[in-house]
Amino acid sequence: MSTQRVPDHTALLVRDFLPGGTLPVPGAEALIPRINHYVAQFENSGAPIYFSRDWHPADHGSFRARGGPWPAHCVADTPGAGFPALIPLPGNASIISKGTQRDREGYSAFDGTKFAELLRQRGVQELWVAGVALDYCVRATTLDALKQGLRAVVLIDAVRAVDAAPGDGERALQELMDAGARVHSWGHSQHESRSHATGRAPAR
Ligand code: ZN
Repeated sequence: MSTQRVPDHTALLVRDFLPGGTLPVPGAEALIPRINHYVAQFENSGAPIYFSRDWHPADHGSFRARGGPWPAHCVADTPGAGFPALIPLPGNASIISKGTQRDREGYSAFDGTKFAELLRQRGVQELWVAGVALDYCVRATTLDALKQGLRAVVLIDAVRAVDAAPGDGERALQELMDAGARVHSWGHSQHESRSHATGRAPAR
């Protein structure tokens, strides 16, 4: 663990939808210690850390009541929109609230937020992304990071897919790598992590 070094000009972005919430990603709780480990390393290095959260109006367009794909979730100023107690926010973390506009999807942490500006102000050149869901918010955020000219790294041992259709997570990961994102992990083998991230049992 002592060899893990956070590269210069790197930021960590964390997302979450945990079991117990209205829109849980199965198995996401397994990511908690890994996410906390990345956060601790970034905190110790003084590298910027951003926690993004859905912060939806009660009539957000992504909710089923409005014809969207999801149950109502992460309504602003309700407990469901809070960060889980098991992932304590470090003192230097910035919070990015997204999906705040009724008719904007808001999967990406860059969509309708000041995130790109904040990263520029800090001189960030590389964004490491952890959290859920790989096939929605992690995907959209990572693609937008690349569009912003940042290097993007998917922390494969700290993301997990919804896999609404089997293989969604694998396809998202391939799409991100094709777009230029790198895949990285600390402390878990690539193979094991990849299987975790995409909900598949490890091959034997
Ligand atoms: Zn949402």
